[in-house]
Amino acid sequence: METIEHIVLSALLHDICKAYNTNDFATSNGHFCEILSKKFNILQKGSNQSDTDQWHYLTQNYYKDILKKDDQKTVLEQIISAADYFASAEREEGFQKNINKIKSNRLIPILERVDLKNQTHPTTHKLPCTKLSLDREHIFPIDKNKPLKDETININEMIKDIESIPDFKKETHQNEGIRLRCITGFLLSIFEKYLSQVPANINTDTPDVSLYDHLRITAAIAEGLYEYHKDTNDLTPNTQYKNKDIDKWLLVCGDFSGIQNFIYKLTSKKAAKGLRGRSFYIQLLCDTSAQYMIQKINLFPTSLIYSSGGKFYLLIPNTTHHISRLEKATDAVNSWLLTEFRGEMYLGIGYTKVSGKFFEAGEMGIKWKEANEALQKNRLHRFSSQILTSEDFFAPQELHSDNRVCQACSRNDSAADIQIETEKETDNKIQKCRHCRRLEEMGAYLTDTQHLLWAWNSDIEIECHRKYVFSFDNEMRCQLYFYKKRPDKTLLSQLSNYSLEIINNLDEPEEFGFRFIGKWQRFNEKTIEFDELAKKAKGIHRLGILRMDVDNLGEIFVRGFDFLGSCDKQMGSLSRIATMSRQLNIFFSGYLNIIIQELNHKIKDEKVQIIYSGGDDLFIIGSWDKIPELANIIQERFKEYCCHNPYFTLSAGISMVTGKYPIYHAAMLAGRDESRAKAIGEIFSDNQSPAQTDQTNQKNALCFMDTVIGWEDYHSVLEIKNLIEEIVNETKHRAIIEKLNTVVYSVNMFEKTKKSEKYSFDKIYELVCFQKWRWQLIYNLHRMSSKYSDDTIAQIEKLQSIILNLNNNTRLPVLSWLEMPVRWADFLTRKEGKKSDE
Ligand SMILES: [Zn+2]
Repeated sequence: METIEHIVLSALLHDICKAYNTNDFATSNGHFCEILSKKFNILQKGSNQSDTDQWHYLTQNYYKDILKKDDQKTVLEQIISAADYFASAEREEGFQKNINKIKSNRLIPILERVDLKNQTHPTTHKLPCTKLSLDREHIFPIDKNKPLKDETININEMIKDIESIPDFKKETHQNEGIRLRCITGFLLSIFEKYLSQVPANINTDTPDVSLYDHLRITAAIAEGLYEYHKDTNDLTPNTQYKNKDIDKWLLVCGDFSGIQNFIYKLTSKKAAKGLRGRSFYIQLLCDTSAQYMIQKINLFPTSLIYSSGGKFYLLIPNTTHHISRLEKATDAVNSWLLTEFRGEMYLGIGYTKVSGKFFEAGEMGIKWKEANEALQKNRLHRFSSQILTSEDFFAPQELHSDNRVCQACSRNDSAADIQIETEKETDNKIQKCRHCRRLEEMGAYLTDTQHLLWAWNSDIEIECHRKYVFSFDNEMRCQLYFYKKRPDKTLLSQLSNYSLEIINNLDEPEEFGFRFIGKWQRFNEKTIEFDELAKKAKGIHRLGILRMDVDNLGEIFVRGFDFLGSCDKQMGSLSRIATMSRQLNIFFSGYLNIIIQELNHKIKDEKVQIIYSGGDDLFIIGSWDKIPELANIIQERFKEYCCHNPYFTLSAGISMVTGKYPIYHAAMLAGRDESRAKAIGEIFSDNQSPAQTDQTNQKNALCFMDTVIGWEDYHSVLEIKNLIEEIVNETKHRAIIEKLNTVVYSVNMFEKTKKSEKYSFDKIYELVCFQKWRWQLIYNLHRMSSKYSDDTIAQIEKLQSIILNLNNNTRLPVLSWLEMPVRWADFLTRKEGKKSDE
């Protein structure tokens, strides 16, 4: 083993004792080391290093040596202890990590602590100390004072997972480094499963960083620290490893642009299969690229701080050769993207130098921002190095012979390999390019895929259900295999660089890799097409498209961790950022699948499906009548997941189209509506009531039926909509809708005049208009009621009183959104079947 390997491994394991239910730290660390050395030959004691420089010694003695002064420690001991210090950013050096002072043995959700006003607000929640799972009772916060079951992590179960990793075939020294990095990957995955909800520190009031995040961040910091000092030829016992001013690391931000266009550009009518294949493929592509880069830079998988939703962050050593490898790897990915996708997608990279002081609480946000700014600059020069190196960059693309055009994505170049296929159901001949064929195929078997096997540079023939190959350069090739059942483990032992992931399932025993992915759910045998979803809708036959994302997330990353520590031991910034982004991703990539399943189950029908969901946003498609309900469930669960922290909110846009409408446009419409929802603060911005000012910047809104509401009004909208619907059903007449529409119309007219005449808003004028509107409503409804039964009259009166008495301490007055419940009820009660307005 190389020195760097001993460093990273012991940094990753230094606190593993905290997973044991004992306070004998040294013995527990020793026990874990033994398990690993027994399991993997490669990890046994080597002769390259002195005994005290071996990972076993470093891990086992970490707690024995913690009280030693730095000058009594070896170089490697100093590096690991410095990395731990930066990952935890403890205030005082050398504080005794003793377990005797337990203050809280449950993880405090970081999502509750985030604050945009630089304040420390009280925390009232804790997370159960359980294995990671998609069960609500495992990952949702609970009241701090609620007694918990005496649950602890089952260390034996965790060890069983480790022991289930197939042995590597005859281990030779060749590829040793690769295999070690591969083992680190397995351990990371297993730690994530068992240690994500175990606090890293229990002798502090607010343990908000998990043991898993603390361990991986310590390993990433240690790798950078060692490589930096090695590069500067400064690995002496007297070196200041804890120096906070030297830029020893780089924070790298990678981002794929063009993803949305690629996913949604499908033009064909039967797009469901293609669309979900595309979305899945993109997520795999982004992760494969990130993995490729890590391997090319020769880093450990621990350097990947975060990866989801087409974005990833790396912490790498700040040396010239790491930078040049990073740039080379980025170029290789971009050259590949250029040939494969004709420049539709681009990997942008931005990075910034980081010194030790930025690991301190609240400081990493600055670097986060800088890396993103560098990324924006980089994007202005898309493909610049490809332009320089490829001679035919500006040459016109050769058209496909026979003038063929892909009927799914409109590609027409010669490289597209367009073939004519015969559709099974219709016998129609259809032209499709290589990508579209493959991605449709992927979409078709995706629902059944349970395991993914990623094998790098393997020549071994592996049996599988389906396979996909990514080859970014001539040296590195990733083969991705899809399985319905777990592949045979003897087969895996022949590989030296791989990972095996079970999808959206953490309950299976003896797994050593998993992946959450927001994906299309299996409901029955047949794939439902978009026009069928539209036809299933109650009322008019429309498809509903929902786009939703977390408000102000950029701001949260930059400023959200500036809250003051309550007392002594502060956890470092990077550990906190890592914990938070991981927790958000669990909600979107993992838990959202459960919400969808529950809804379809409840209505015993397949009415909503995920097209994409991960990172901090989602794209859902379904019968329109279920979409607003779903959006509200998602935002309510999300609020609960974030402990009702007012800084974590979601905004949503819902568009409605016919089942045959191009999905690309539908996606754009929903995106536009999402932006309109987020701009809720601008509605009536010329007339701010005191209730509005504070919340104006808080988006937290929904745009549906071309109308915006703050989520706080959702239940009023629902109540009004339900009453109108009942009245229509009972009277078998749509008069109520017509009457309300006149009111909606006059409100809209009033708004328009106000805008066009740049009318300086006058309280009296407003009052007159408002009164006029009230009287109109009362008059209209009153005139109507004379014809109906007492029950209906009572309902109409109730409706009237709800609308008139809605107290306006929400952000928008009822007159601004009355259109939403009226049109909603209107669409629900229309009969479709005869000549519709499709
Ligand atoms: Zn195509």
